[in-house]
Amino acid sequence: MICFFLIVFQGLSCLIKKIKFGLQIFFMAKLILVPTPIGNLEDITLRALRILKEADFILAEDTRTSGQLLKHFAIEKQLRSFHSHNEHRVLDETIALIQSSKTTALISDAGTPGISDPGFLLVRECIARGVEIETLPGPTAFVPALVNSGFPCNEFSFYGFLPQKKGRQTKWKELLADTKTLILYESPYRLIKLLEEIGQNLGEEREVCVCRELSKMFEENKRGTVKEVLEYFKSKTIKGEIVVVIKGAYVS
Ligand code: SAM
Repeated sequence: MICFFLIVFQGLSCLIKKIKFGLQIFFMAKLILVPTPIGNLEDITLRALRILKEADFILAEDTRTSGQLLKHFAIEKQLRSFHSHNEHRVLDETIALIQSSKTTALISDAGTPGISDPGFLLVRECIARGVEIETLPGPTAFVPALVNSGFPCNEFSFYGFLPQKKGRQTKWKELLADTKTLILYESPYRLIKLLEEIGQNLGEEREVCVCRELSKMFEENKRGTVKEVLEYFKSKTIKGEIVVVIKGAYVS
């Protein structure tokens, strides 16, 4: 009789363990990084829309900007602010929230979160605390810029925005030593200064491609030597968003 109860008890505890494990997998928290369009709203993917609709809540760099995007796609979802000015301060509470939910989405103002946008810190910390991470493929500015440039895409270095003051000169030394295709992000207000510095540090004959307003109505890809491209932009009022691609040293 005792033996019978022991077997039943063991069987039951085994079953409970299995159910618990199943529930754990079912409720495993997940952070999904969702790329959003860099200009053309048609670039949102079907999967991005589904994830944004299904997520328990969305972390957004700017809740107003993202609110408009979600409104365009008729998605009503709770948005929580997560940006470069609060990411350190709210990191713990954000991870606690992610852990208590099934799916959390992270979006930035445009493009892929983590690429010159908040994301890295959260991803690193989620991995450290056992939260599953998934990044959807989707819009980002540097990939179309690189391909449009016509420079070798098999090896490239992405530098994002150069530091404004401290460390800028050291960065130029790094860029000079890097022989691959180089990719930089820049604001239209600082494009002239950047092109002048490329000429001074990498040589005026180095070829560049300035990609402006990618995916938008007035997209422009201006190619030539730094000297030519600088002259061209000096004669214009520069507007819009910009990626600068620099041909690798020694590429014929
Ligand atoms: N997360 C974004 C991505 O995945 O590319 C980048 C965000 S960063 C704050 C913004 C910079 O990306 C802009 O200053 C510009 O250099 C570049 N960028 C964004 N959209 C662009 C566009 N439509 N055309 C050209 N450059 C763009």
